[in-house]
Formats: sequence, C-alpha cells, structure tokens
Amino acid sequence: MELSRNQNGGINMLYKYFTEKLTGLQGLSIEKVEENHNTIHIHCKLERKKHKCPCCGKLTNTIHDYREQVIKDIPAFGKYVFIHIKKRRYRCTCGKRFAEKNKFLPRYHRMTNRLSAYIIDKLRDAVTYTSVARE
Ligand SMILES: [Zn+2]
Repeated sequence: MELSRNQNGGINMLYKYFTEKLTGLQGLSIEKVEENHNTIHIHCKLERKKHKCPCCGKLTNTIHDYREQVIKDIPAFGKYVFIHIKKRRYRCTCGKRFAEKNKFLPRYHRMTNRLSAYIIDKLRDAVTYTSVARE
C-alpha cells in the first residue's frame, strides 16, 4: 500500500488525522510526521499534567527533563515506521525525580507493541481515507 504519491497532501492529511484522532483521546499528541523515501517518522509526546510523587505523594508539574523513546522497525505501507515518543521526567520539591505515567505507555515491550499496532491501525485508516478522498 502506498502512503501517498501526493507527499504534501498525504502527510498533511495524516498529520491532521493524527491530531484529531489521538489528541485528547489517548493523551498523546503528534507533533510531526516526516516521510522519506523508505521511512516514516512519527514524533509524539504525552500531554503535560500533574503527577503524584511516588516518594512523598505531593503533586508536581515541574519538568526535570525529556527522554526520547524510539519504537523502530515497524514495517507498514512498504516503509519502515519509527515512532518517537518524547517522555518527560518530573521533579518533586522533595528531590525525587520520576518518569511520567500514562495508562497508554506503562512500560516498554508489551505496550510498545500495542501502541505500534494502534498507530499503524490509525495510519491505515488515514491512508484508506486519503485514497477515498482522491477518487
Ligand atoms: Zn516528593
């Protein structure tokens, strides 16, 4: 399945689609989608929200730093898809630093598979939608 020969139109539509479908829905927002000749890079991050410190129980909204997690080598549409997730770490006034929590991304392997399946499923819908729109 081709993603789109119409690069700009295709990617813009995908971006719009992702933004509409994923933002709010899963607390995941897509910042950017880049398509190269054999790869697609999807950049996303979670919504910022207050987190409860696992050490003292206080709420904090202070960002310590970001770590990028890359889920790669997911073949789809005849291309390799790389999903870049910018994960935050928060800092509490007690000094504790901890990774953000989201039910969508608890921990690595199993969840990344589910996330990949979810995103690819959405991408597939978007591709179907764009080819329908073209006809
Ligand atoms: Zn604390």
